[in-house]
Amino acid sequence: MEEHRVFEIPQLKEAGDMKDRRNFRDLPPTYIPMRNGIFYSVAASYAEEVGADYIIGGHNREDVEVFPDTSPAFFESFQKAIWAGSRLLGERRTTVLRPLQLKSKAEVVSLAAGLGVPLERTWSCYREGSRHCGECEGCRKRAKAFSEAGVSDPLRLA
Ligand SMILES: [Zn+2]
Repeated sequence: MEEHRVFEIPQLKEAGDMKDRRNFRDLPPTYIPMRNGIFYSVAASYAEEVGADYIIGGHNREDVEVFPDTSPAFFESFQKAIWAGSRLLGERRTTVLRPLQLKSKAEVVSLAAGLGVPLERTWSCYREGSRHCGECEGCRKRAKAFSEAGVSDPLRLA
């Protein structure tokens, strides 16, 4: 089965716009509470709907170092939670895979370039629009990763 489905989660925009960040002082300004946990929960719901064997996450080592909801401890518990919370996922032993979790962003860019991934179709910007802004943290990290990997960014953000 091949389907691309878009899920709207307006609560994430509201959480990203919160003014009071006292509880998140040691986290980056782009941190949105439980964002990855929400993404994986939506993915688990979809996996149950279509009877998937795997849920595959794309976060990398740098994410794991910053966001608790991409940590091995989170996934150990999340895996058990989806098996307990969904008869179908439990019976199928639907498994959450994180193939990039030990790689840096630069290593992910190198891997993608080597595999022929259409990097011009990837999105890194935190802002809305038809083009990357080139200024936000997502764009800066993208430029750094491509530079460190020695790969030319087809979007030329730097
Ligand atoms: Zn940007």
